[in-house]
Amino acid sequence: MPDTVTVPVTVVQPPTVGTSVLNADSPSGANFLESFFHDNPYFQAGFGLMGLGVGLTVMRQGLVLGTTTLRRRMLVTLEINNKDRAYEWFLEWMANQANSVAKTSRSAPWVRSHQLSVETMIEQRKNGSSSALFKLVAGPGTHYFKYQGAWMQVKRERETRSMQLMSGVPWETVTLTTLSRDRSLFPRLLSEARDLAMKGQEGKLVIHTAWGIEWKPFGQPRRKRPLQSVVLEPGVGEKIVQDVKAFLQRRQWYADRGIPYRRGYLLHGPPGSGKTSFIQALAGSLSYDICLLNLSERGLADDKLNHLLSNAPERSFVLIEDVDAAFNKRVQTTEDGYQSSVTFSGFLNALDGVASGEERIIFMTTNHVEKLDSALIRPGRVDVSELIGDSTAVQAKTLFTRFYGGSDDLPEKEVQRLANVLEEMVDANRKSGKRVSMAALQGLFIRNNARDAVAGCSELFSPERI
Ligand code: ADP
Repeated sequence: MPDTVTVPVTVVQPPTVGTSVLNADSPSGANFLESFFHDNPYFQAGFGLMGLGVGLTVMRQGLVLGTTTLRRRMLVTLEINNKDRAYEWFLEWMANQANSVAKTSRSAPWVRSHQLSVETMIEQRKNGSSSALFKLVAGPGTHYFKYQGAWMQVKRERETRSMQLMSGVPWETVTLTTLSRDRSLFPRLLSEARDLAMKGQEGKLVIHTAWGIEWKPFGQPRRKRPLQSVVLEPGVGEKIVQDVKAFLQRRQWYADRGIPYRRGYLLHGPPGSGKTSFIQALAGSLSYDICLLNLSERGLADDKLNHLLSNAPERSFVLIEDVDAAFNKRVQTTEDGYQSSVTFSGFLNALDGVASGEERIIFMTTNHVEKLDSALIRPGRVDVSELIGDSTAVQAKTLFTRFYGGSDDLPEKEVQRLANVLEEMVDANRKSGKRVSMAALQGLFIRNNARDAVAGCSELFSPERI
């Protein structure tokens, strides 16, 4: 009898949609999903697009990250903004590079740039004449140049929406970028720019004026005036010079005693006696700058004044001229009736300032010392007060020999004889209460030869003014 073979029969139920989703793990659910992904063109397209998007995003982020890392590792940038002194130095240096290269008829790399700015400079010659020079500096935009074999990118940017408080000058930045292995070039470049700027000022006196709450150089640096060319009464100039020099050497002395390191000088006397000239010559001889402060300036208020006095550039004298005009009635009014908002007490406070180790030297001048409030001329505010008066006989004689001596026009003996005549004349006039200013004598000497000057001098005397 043949064996009976029992064949097991499995009845496969077609799965319903609901169960297939629920049982995705089951082999039958997996099959369905597979066929769904395969057969559904919409799903495939969406999935593909999504994958593409994700891929692109990852790639982009990777690229950004990569570039940033590369930039960080490979490039080095230096930012200079126009609040920093190096800003002007750098632009000047760039302009100078262009000029010097242009002279050798090669063109400076950055000059090919299409964004240029012009800086007009007035050059003063030794004989007093002047001429205008135009310097092309890199304008806002991107420029490239080569420095000591390395390429640098220069980006000059101007912030148009915000201005520097008070001065109204827009914020600007220059960003230099180069390969990081060349980072040591920056200090070298900046020192070169600084040296160039300093060279331009060598033998010159820089005068700063207040721009809002900041000090800015005013005009081109002037030629220094030799100290001896200002002829004061014997001993007066020397006394001030010695005092300033002694003060400059006592920084530590002041610090040890906790005294603010500052000194105030008041030069008083009639106009044209050489007060301003002397202060400028003294600043020049010490290689100091002058910060000219006009207390009657529009918009100057107590807080700004305080800020200006506390933030004068290093190695500078603050010069306040005609201080009596500003406060003779404790209220200052300009010719057109404008009343400045600097108050007398505000001025005194600003002079006293906050005790700081910063050196501060203030020179004040006045034609009317008697009008000054005693609170202003007390020690600590005015430490040295000197009268710079009208010409004495000796001063007139010295100025005369300075003008006419040592020339071939007149024998030295004759110059001496005329100088003695002038000396006696000034002496006699002074005894009878008549004076002549040094400025008037200077004017006379400029216009006349030695003999005519002595002859015409008698007309210049007038009764004592102060
Ligand atoms: P002040 O400040 O006393 O009014 P300035 O210094 O402005 O006088 O001088 C005016 C002019 O007169 C300047 O050109 C200066 O050269 C000349 N001057 C005045 N005093 C003297 C002086 N003592 N020695 C040489 N020049 C003088």
